[in-house]
Amino acid sequence: MTARRGELAANLAAVHERIDRACLDAGRDPAELTLIVVTKTYPVEDVVILAELGVREFGENRHPEAGRKFAALAELVPDADVRLHFLGGLQTNKAGAVARYADVVHSVDRVRLVEGLSRGALAAGRELGALVEVDFSGEPGRAGVAPEGVGALAAEIAAAPGLRLDGVMTVAPLGVDPASCFAELVAIGGRLRAVHPAATMISAGMSGDLEQAVAAGATHLRVGRSILGERPEMT
Ligand SMILES: *Cc1c(COP(=O)(O)O)cnc(C)c1O
Repeated sequence: MTARRGELAANLAAVHERIDRACLDAGRDPAELTLIVVTKTYPVEDVVILAELGVREFGENRHPEAGRKFAALAELVPDADVRLHFLGGLQTNKAGAVARYADVVHSVDRVRLVEGLSRGALAAGRELGALVEVDFSGEPGRAGVAPEGVGALAAEIAAAPGLRLDGVMTVAPLGVDPASCFAELVAIGGRLRAVHPAATMISAGMSGDLEQAVAAGATHLRVGRSILGERPEMT
């Protein structure tokens, strides 16, 4: 076993232990939680090791890095049945390209993006999952729609050919208590499910706040640093 393989295996096990403990505290079944391992900025060699360790849900946040990495993974581990979650800000003119390789896009926050993803999914003959990204900071320029805007954007996704409305996502803003932010997201997700019963995903919780997300009722956790290590400065 290489040093990196040992390190990734140990970190992955530690994160699963954190999730199990948080589930125990919250009276939840760990089977309700899906861990998405966020490999952005890390090389495809790490993705391959993680796939060999049994990881099947991967997150990336940049095009074209995400597409390149997953094409390489498909060649290196052809029988790994993996799912790619696209998490990052996405320019409308890149939506078509991302729709060709992503399985779920967590960061849908405007109608133009819905249109671009829908066109791309149709052109590729694929069905693409889409989550409404919700912003609880109220700051202009931040990704995500305000809570009041979720219903309208969700209706656009649900009506868009090639797209499947899967649920809601948030990144807790700095300086805001993640627990209250995730509780609000779960409440919004519940109201959405009353209208769109299949939209069951609640994507919340990262390396620093996954316990709060489990306690609030998240279904999907997006964890990078706790498994892969601190990322080099992003430029
Ligand atoms: C990078 C990223 C994550 C993972 O964050 P860590 O702090 O590395 O666990 C989760 N969600 C989104 C949207 C990200 O961009």
